[in-house]
Amino acid sequence: MRDERYNAQQIEEKWSARWQQDPSLYAAEPDSTKQKYYVLEMLPYPSGALHMGHVRNYAIGDALARYMWMNGYNVLHPMGWDSFGLPAENAAISANVPPREWTLRNIANMKAQMKRLGFAYDWSREVTTCFPEYYKWNQWFFLKLYERGLAYRKKSNVNWCPKCATVLANEQVVNDGYCWRHEDTLVEQRELEQWFLRTTQYADELLRDLDRLSGWPEKVRTMQRNWIGRSEGTLVDFHLDYAGGDVITVFTTRVDTIYGATSVQLAPEHPITQELTALDPELCRKVDQLVAEQKKAKDAGDITNIEKHGVNTGHLAVNPYNGERVPLWVANYILMDYGTGAIMSVPAHDERDYEFARKYGIAIKQVIVPHGRVGRTFLSDQASNQISSAERSSDNPALMEVEGNVRTTQPEELPFTTLNGRLINSGQFSGLSCEDAIQKMSAYAEQHNFGKATVTYRLKDWGISRQRYWGTPIPMVYCDRHGIVPVSEKDLPVILPDKVEITLTGGSPLQRVPEFSNTTCPKCGGPARRETDTMDTFVDSSWYFYRYTDAHNDKAPFDSKIAGYWFGDPGIDQYIGGVEHAILHLIYSRFWTKFMRDIGLIKNDEPVERLFTQGMIIKGGAKMSKSLGNVVSPDEMVERYGGDSTRMYTLFATSPDRELDWQDEGVAGIYRFLGKVYRFVVRNADPDDPSWNSPVPSDLSPEARSIQRKLHQTFKRVSTDFQGRWHFNTSIAAIMELVNELYAADDRVARTPSSAIPVPLLADVQRKLVLLLAPFAPYLAHELWEMLGEHSNLLKEPWPKFDSELAKEDEIEIPVQVNGKLRGKIVVPAGTSEPEVIAKALADEKVQSHVAGKDIVKRIYVPGKLVSFVVR
Ligand SMILES: [Zn+2]
Ligand SMILES: [Zn+2]
Repeated sequence: MRDERYNAQQIEEKWSARWQQDPSLYAAEPDSTKQKYYVLEMLPYPSGALHMGHVRNYAIGDALARYMWMNGYNVLHPMGWDSFGLPAENAAISANVPPREWTLRNIANMKAQMKRLGFAYDWSREVTTCFPEYYKWNQWFFLKLYERGLAYRKKSNVNWCPKCATVLANEQVVNDGYCWRHEDTLVEQRELEQWFLRTTQYADELLRDLDRLSGWPEKVRTMQRNWIGRSEGTLVDFHLDYAGGDVITVFTTRVDTIYGATSVQLAPEHPITQELTALDPELCRKVDQLVAEQKKAKDAGDITNIEKHGVNTGHLAVNPYNGERVPLWVANYILMDYGTGAIMSVPAHDERDYEFARKYGIAIKQVIVPHGRVGRTFLSDQASNQISSAERSSDNPALMEVEGNVRTTQPEELPFTTLNGRLINSGQFSGLSCEDAIQKMSAYAEQHNFGKATVTYRLKDWGISRQRYWGTPIPMVYCDRHGIVPVSEKDLPVILPDKVEITLTGGSPLQRVPEFSNTTCPKCGGPARRETDTMDTFVDSSWYFYRYTDAHNDKAPFDSKIAGYWFGDPGIDQYIGGVEHAILHLIYSRFWTKFMRDIGLIKNDEPVERLFTQGMIIKGGAKMSKSLGNVVSPDEMVERYGGDSTRMYTLFATSPDRELDWQDEGVAGIYRFLGKVYRFVVRNADPDDPSWNSPVPSDLSPEARSIQRKLHQTFKRVSTDFQGRWHFNTSIAAIMELVNELYAADDRVARTPSSAIPVPLLADVQRKLVLLLAPFAPYLAHELWEMLGEHSNLLKEPWPKFDSELAKEDEIEIPVQVNGKLRGKIVVPAGTSEPEVIAKALADEKVQSHVAGKDIVKRIYVPGKLVSFVVR
């Protein structure tokens, strides 16, 4: 007698050891005769140990990879390590372990965890981004970007996280002003010289191609659209009215309202503001106040709700369309990093301008009327011309007064902000619709050299310099004679030195390593100094999935042909990861792909065809965190229940896109279920029976037929889930139902041996049950496969096609009586529920004619036999 107890540890250790002896098990090579499938989970940061979120992420990808293998695809399923980054430096400071050592130790530990969980990765393609053979290519790409003007150095205001002690990209500032790593730390602004990548060069394409990504969640596409933030508008030059007056370029999306501009407003940090304040101490004092207010609002993450203040500079700016001079203000709500840092203020047609104008008594001049008020246009236009000339010699209060007389609607109807109107008081443009006017007035500006139509983006260039140690050195040199000089390609990689004193103050730790920072100029051979900032680690993850296709190439980042096979035209077939990367990683890697295409490395326009973002894991209603003490360790679960149960639970608890509320008892439940499967096979596997491999007979008893039907129905359900929305929770529930049915049949068979399930069917059912389990519980599936006398590789075993004929419920005919008399017959699938049968009976035409308009006092259903209604 075999032991019927399911010993997960024993089974999993046995198979884990076998799998590790065969590194080619999950290996994949390009093969033009087979359809490829590239399935990828986002690579982890080696923090030290896997958390449950990782397990869930990888369990989804692994189930899919196994399913695709069994469906005959050539599957690429690699894994690697996003292994540069700040935590390694923090560990160095707090525990005095060198970052490299700390990182490699963590990788070893997490890799062992992944292997213990039985994830099917092709480890021969492992990518570790902190190794010189990888980051060399970051540096190579940087040189290519630099050659094409897509990497540049600029002094500007940048985001600075005091806790990280480094600059952050705009994408790394989250929740209106906080650090992505320290969600309680406000990001400050600092003026620094930094390296930027020109992501804005691809802004239009990044936006446009989102439309093609129909395999991405809509919410991710929307987030990217908003982040890129395209707006069409017009740049218009206003001249300051003093001799040799500077030009102030404003950006507006509503040039059609420009005849209604009654002031121009500058950001407190606008260069012209700085010029004016330098000459005027009183103004300087007031502007400093505005700067402080803006900083305070930014620091509070609440710039949109800032209480608006401004100061009149006393200067005038000339509207190039009509020569009108309007006062020049500085205002605390105008941001230097949005548009041009200068706006024209049109109170009659903009909420914010209206509010500001009312507060400071600035003129409000209507130049748009709703459609249907054209009659007033001409009169108002003449009035407007008078004002223009009157205004030219007037100062502000006079303007106010004259303006007051020409309002064409009541002030309470202003501001009128929609495009649904027509221009008045706008010289030669009066009478045009708003949309028409925007076109014509932009063209006019261009013809007369004072402006043009333009497109601006919220997306900014990607600042990649980090004042940290544990990252890719930027391959640039500063020579006193030649300025910025790129390192020669042949001298790559610029190796990150090992012996470095790491602190979080005093700038980049590499500055304090003379062997690193002192070098020679690639142009003149004279003394020079190296760039000591390192690259943002998001550079590493922007292209790593191409490296997997050709991970050991030392001549190029990867071979274009090989990458071309695995990516195809649409990109990675399925990418799976957290939605927290919707902006960061997923914008950067799209940018990188477009750049690589433009230098001829690849042909695809997008890296990822289908994206799936799994839900978070919580416990007791809260995100798992050390401080809440609600962290569940995968190791502990594996030790108690095994890897199969742990990963299967993450797929069973809810559908993979939803938040999962962790219950230890849930894992125990899966463990019991797998034990039940194990027991069934131990009892019923009998490969030595002479008829074990015979075909399943077609004349089955009703009992046997019902088992066969359930089997095919389960296959249908699981296959549909894989091909559709991945509701693995319903797949697994269906497998559980099947197993319950098998047990029930087993009992009945024991009582009435005459209706026994024939051996060939019993063999077929067990084999298919194992195949069904293989994507979810691979260890147990392999063990049972062997128990069934099979020796083939389960991954290569074809996923059975379900037979829809066999899955079909047998149909039964049920007579329907009304007040004891037979009135009709209905046909329903066997096993149809009572409410459905009753509804169908009532819908029958013949039955209807006997119950319509009457009161049904009783409904009786004798399952499978009879429906009976009593009516009055
Ligand atoms: Zn931070
Ligand atoms: Zn030089």
